Amino acid sequence: MGTNSVYLIPRESAMTASEWSAKVREVLVEMGVVEFGDDSDPSNFGNGEHADSAFESGGVEEDEPGPFDFGFVHQYPGAVFLPEPYAETPMCPHCGSEVKADVAALRWDEDGNEREIDMRELRITCPKCARKLRLDELKDDFGTKFYLSDRFVEFSDARMPREEWLKEFNARMGVEHDVLEYGYT
Ligand SMILES: [Zn+2]
Repeated sequence: MGTNSVYLIPRESAMTASEWSAKVREVLVEMGVVEFGDDSDPSNFGNGEHADSAFESGGVEEDEPGPFDFGFVHQYPGAVFLPEPYAETPMCPHCGSEVKADVAALRWDEDGNEREIDMRELRITCPKCARKLRLDELKDDFGTKFYLSDRFVEFSDARMPREEWLKEFNARMGVEHDVLEYGYT
């Protein structure tokens, strides 16, 4: 069985990451889509009472207890690269050279700790054609659009959100969200 993550990523808005994060928790709970537990991680949530109303219906895995397994509201001091860590083959959009090692070196230090940086500031130089690239300009084999964001919702093992639900959610949030699905089998 494969697994995936479905991300809701807000477009530019005047809200700070913490204002957005407080509001998205409120809106998702109000709409009955998620429920926050007494978990030691307060960003972690499960299916709410009306979770089914927000997602496409199930197909082959109809017997699953909810439209997603679990999820998180993510908020960082600086933008991170999405959908890393799943992105296996980021490439230069101009010449197709693989730049995975370069991206990893920007994000992690020699001891394997995540650097505290805003990845929107970073440029990498393609090892082959020497162009300077923002990380969200990179491509992969699957045509994934990469993002740089300091705030997003992640649903793990999830179906896709319904279009009508997304409209209502965006209206309540006061900002449009892009939906990004990334998965592997
Ligand atoms: Zn290149």
